[in-house]
Amino acid sequence: MVVNLEGKISKIGQNMKSSIIREILKFAADKDAISFGGGVPDPETFPRKELAEIAKEIIEKEYHYTLQYSTTEGDPVLKQQILKLLERMYGITGLDEDNLIFTVGSQQALDLIGKLFLDDESYCVLDDPAYLGAINAFRQYLANFVVVPLEDDGMDLNVLERKLSEFDKNGKIKQVKFIYVVSNFHNPAGVTTSLEKRKALVEIAEKYDLFIVEDDPYGALRYEGETVDPIFKIGGPERVVLLNTFSKVLAPGLRIGMVAGSKEFIRKIVQAKQSADLCSPAITHRLAARYLERYDLLEQLKPTIELYRRKRTVMLNALEEYFSDIPGVKWVKSEGGLFIWLTLPEGFDTWEMFEYAKRKKVFYVPGRVFKVYDEPSPSMRLSFCLPPDEKIVEGIKRLREVVLEYGKE
Ligand code: PMP
Repeated sequence: MVVNLEGKISKIGQNMKSSIIREILKFAADKDAISFGGGVPDPETFPRKELAEIAKEIIEKEYHYTLQYSTTEGDPVLKQQILKLLERMYGITGLDEDNLIFTVGSQQALDLIGKLFLDDESYCVLDDPAYLGAINAFRQYLANFVVVPLEDDGMDLNVLERKLSEFDKNGKIKQVKFIYVVSNFHNPAGVTTSLEKRKALVEIAEKYDLFIVEDDPYGALRYEGETVDPIFKIGGPERVVLLNTFSKVLAPGLRIGMVAGSKEFIRKIVQAKQSADLCSPAITHRLAARYLERYDLLEQLKPTIELYRRKRTVMLNALEEYFSDIPGVKWVKSEGGLFIWLTLPEGFDTWEMFEYAKRKKVFYVPGRVFKVYDEPSPSMRLSFCLPPDEKIVEGIKRLREVVLEYGKE
């Protein structure tokens, strides 16, 4: 007889959802389809020859380390490289090894933070729209959300302040744990939080004694404008934890994410990770560490940045050509990252419109997916990193037809 799993799944298990994006992307497998859906990097940007050479070497010569269990915190050689990178990229200094832990992708860090801080009586602050992986990671622990609209320069801080002061007035502020922010080239909305708002966020976090989770997978992929100081640098490791990842700058298959924070915070993450997986694979840590020793990541990244910059321009030009005459349409000209956020006129529902897109074989991720609570959205996330230039143009042209057809009904 088959076991009845339904009756056995825990409250947390019942709260887990599969990513809708993965479901949607199944349609994009058709060979005539043009997909702006997946946020995955172009595999041609992975330094495969270099990694293959190092992989052989570290298995043959460093097998005592690479094929063995390692510490939960991760490879100390990689930590040294990361400390140097954080200083070079962002001018972050004053950290040592105990301020860092590696996770299996930064997604694991989100899960562990959820596990450590959230339950059915607690709240965390998310923006609208928010990164789906964060919504799912936090929601599974039965958390409640304080939802704050995202503006072109980051969260609407007036709304944030108003909502937090209500919690304070009602004696519930201790139940609010942290504010989650994707500070650079937000997924999905493309926006970068301005320096003023970063400083103000730290002040708000101090006023209400919250911590900030700054998630920055895209910061190194800047195509124009100047680097903005990380919230982590402004607020310091006692107030802010910084998540980062090799997924968009080296290869997501390595599954290396990173948390930088106070030593106390990192110790708690170590405990949570111990029961999740004992340790990350030492082999990918050492692979990345030796790669960083031999090659200058930021130099190596330049052709990738060039490639994505060009594709972004192709998409922005195509939007200008095919959408600028449709009243009420707007899009965010993200200065970096992998996404453009396109918003249709009020009343449009890009989830419902998806049926029309299927017929024209052009795919996007409907804005509804990034809503904390399931609500219609007139927006969509477009990723420009995978399709060739001519397909980007053709796809935007098809998207125009989709919008016009849907708009007629
Ligand atoms: N945070 C954000 C904002 C992301 O966009 C992603 C990847 N899509 C992640 C975290 C997780 O990345 P990874 O687990 O590959 O490090």
